[in-house]
Amino acid sequence: MGARKSRSRTTVSVNNDRCRRYGICVAEAPSLFRMTTDGGLRYLRTVPGEQVEQAKAAVRSCPMLAIELDERR
Ligand code: SF4
Repeated sequence: MGARKSRSRTTVSVNNDRCRRYGICVAEAPSLFRMTTDGGLRYLRTVPGEQVEQAKAAVRSCPMLAIELDERR
């Protein structure tokens, strides 16, 4: 039996009203989140499959519960 290719797609969204720009998500998942020079937060909306675990760690680490992951199949 051949390996089945996963078609799931994970997207990230950050609630800007909750986010306090602590940057903990950046420390947990630096390839997904980054701080801008003017103190804003930038992030990849679509998470590459191999980085989903990092994205989940960022969700758990956020003290403001500002990060949401949406996994679709
Ligand atoms: S850890 Fe949460 S509050 Fe801090 S920058 Fe990331 S999303 Fe914002």
